[in-house]
Amino acid sequence: MIQPDRPLENEYPDLCRPGSIQPHGILLAIAEPDYIIQYISSNTRDLLGIDPNDLLGRSIATLFDNSQQIFLQQTANKPLGVSSAFSLSLQTASGKREFDAFAHRTSEAIVVELEVKKTEIEENLPNFSAWVRETLANLQLSSTLRDFFEVVAQEVRNITQFDRVMVYQFDRQGGGEVVAEAKTETLSASYLGLCYPATDIPEAAREMYLQCRLRWIPDLAAHSVKLIAVETQENNTLDLSFSILRSVDSCCIEYHQNMGVQALLVIPLMNEGKLWGLIACHHQTAKYLPYSLRVVCELLGQFVSLELANQIKQEELDYKLELRSYHTQLLKAIAKQKNLKTALLHPDPRFLELVDATGMAIYLNNEIVLSGNTPNREQIYPLIEWLDARGNESLFQTDSLVRDYPPGEAIADTASGILLLRISQVRRYYLLWFRPEVIQTITWAGNPQESLQIDDNGRITLGPRSSFEQWQETMRFTAKPWLLSEIESAIEFRNALIGLVLDRAEELARLNQELERSNRELASFAFAASHDLKEPLRGIHNYSIFLLEDYANVLDEVGVERLETLVRLTQRMESLIDILLNYSRLGQTELNLEAIDLNVLVKQVIAVFRASNPNSPIEIRIPSPLPLTHCDPILINEVFGNLLTNAFKYNDKPDPWIEIGCMSPNRQGIHNPATIVLYVRDNGIGIRERHRETIFRLFKRLHAKNKYGGGIGAGLAIVKKIIERHGGQIWCESTYGEGSTFYFTLTRSQP
Ligand code: ADP
Repeated sequence: MIQPDRPLENEYPDLCRPGSIQPHGILLAIAEPDYIIQYISSNTRDLLGIDPNDLLGRSIATLFDNSQQIFLQQTANKPLGVSSAFSLSLQTASGKREFDAFAHRTSEAIVVELEVKKTEIEENLPNFSAWVRETLANLQLSSTLRDFFEVVAQEVRNITQFDRVMVYQFDRQGGGEVVAEAKTETLSASYLGLCYPATDIPEAAREMYLQCRLRWIPDLAAHSVKLIAVETQENNTLDLSFSILRSVDSCCIEYHQNMGVQALLVIPLMNEGKLWGLIACHHQTAKYLPYSLRVVCELLGQFVSLELANQIKQEELDYKLELRSYHTQLLKAIAKQKNLKTALLHPDPRFLELVDATGMAIYLNNEIVLSGNTPNREQIYPLIEWLDARGNESLFQTDSLVRDYPPGEAIADTASGILLLRISQVRRYYLLWFRPEVIQTITWAGNPQESLQIDDNGRITLGPRSSFEQWQETMRFTAKPWLLSEIESAIEFRNALIGLVLDRAEELARLNQELERSNRELASFAFAASHDLKEPLRGIHNYSIFLLEDYANVLDEVGVERLETLVRLTQRMESLIDILLNYSRLGQTELNLEAIDLNVLVKQVIAVFRASNPNSPIEIRIPSPLPLTHCDPILINEVFGNLLTNAFKYNDKPDPWIEIGCMSPNRQGIHNPATIVLYVRDNGIGIRERHRETIFRLFKRLHAKNKYGGGIGAGLAIVKKIIERHGGQIWCESTYGEGSTFYFTLTRSQP
């Protein structure tokens, strides 16, 4: 569309050094230090009445007076490419002539350009300061970017009087769209909303616009004027990158002429150091623009760029704030939940708003929770597999899933765009947002393929397009792209979630410490209390015995019976205190850990058991050898002793048996190879489901005192404490009426 005659010297040397200029001015290049004219345009006879050969190789004093020479010499001190402008009048064959002069330095020479002034037009120019004031006020009034561009197009047209003024915005691929247009009524076709492919303004051309503030081509039909050089110079090698008169690339001329354009003005628009777009002005006939007016346009371009940056930032900021507010609300809601998993399994609807998605899947180690419009589970599992196979990237996003994942075609209606966040590297916890396909109809200004031409050697080259008839293309399998602010919002949310989880973990660790401390205090209290209780209790017991021995004859039957009860109760209480003391001591004393062969240990336990129950018919079996463990043998002896006694006591079968064994930890879902799982199994009375936890509590028994041998309800509590002191776990499985198995873990001893 706005094919500029381009570009950067390094990449396109012949385009930067075309060896010619446009004919509405004169160009000369002078060499330091003696200020001799090295190059001159061949049109000096037309504009000055002097033959170029009469100037070439001569001092600038041939053309310029003293003050003008001083001005030009000062350019030598300016940075490369920075232009200074001034007005001058020169004596020509047809009398005095007014020029706008521009001078800039290149690495080779000082380039001076003289543009003929059209004084009659200059005299009728509008009042610029009033126009600028009014335009700026109008621009600041516009509330949306669209309105803003409308005003820009309109105002630039007002001041330049070009037939058509467009604001053109680049997209990420370098193509773009006309976002505002002001045109004369005689032009029927509107270009508003038309898209242009990146090939219409090649990257090199965009680069060039980064360097200039304005490019004006008054007459695309005018013949360019050759530069001639002194004999020592090659004719056309002068670098014209910064020249305002530089001639126009033939491709650009043809391109615009095919659109019916004869004069062109382009003002680049910048945002954050990048080319954001262009104000492009087309005129159907040649169009002279006085320098003062171009300066105003240049300033306007800079103002628009500044204001544009503000407006874009403001819109982005507003959106960011909106996302941030969802983020805060969502985190608050999650923090209120018991844990992260519960929060994720019942997701808040605001999850979708966080990134402006229409659907979402929360994936927690194979569990999927869906909300909004999403593909179904069977479609999501393979998608997750595919995403997993891509590696461990914590974020993946695309606005066209099909591009990378062909099966995505089947889910395009809900998931053409996806945004994946991994919340945990250890667990497979993912948040996956979806956006549906937006079938876009792009209205191209002509067939975009047309500018790609194949030359005689079969190479693809760029050429001017001849057709600008609307040409429509439908884009499928594409969703609205994820904006940077949305992606940032997702990442921030993930970090906040991790922060929340860490806070929780810290809180838990603190509570654990606290609990441990109070446990220790409680244990030492129980130890001290039970220890101190023993003495008075012994006193009561002894005195009751004395009373029975010495005064039984003076007491009646009831009195004696009560004293006997007192003795029994003190005995029972003493045994309870002993248990409590033993129990609390367990939490206090050091373990004497050694490598113990459980085969030997269990054999001793069985021997003691048999000695205490000589007539018991119970069968005790050990199906396979037991391992070596790292344990305190006295305490583990107590564990087996208690479990064996219980297995024997709580059995009413005619052929009772007990099995002691060891099983693979994997079967219990334990994957630490150092852990061993031992068990004591019986075919006894069994334990109901609801009691399987409580039986491990101190003084908890399920039966009356005189049933099943009358336990005190401490055995399992002690067993549990011993196992836990060894860093293990204990649990029970049972079928009521058929038998129970007590499992516990210990650590394998390394041979
Ligand atoms: P007790 O001294 O009463 O045996 P324990 O702490 O050893 O106390 O056991 C608590 C309760 O658990 C017992 O009262 C009994 O009801 C139940 N229990 C323990 N072992 C078994 C078992 N092998 N079979 C059935 N019930 C059992």
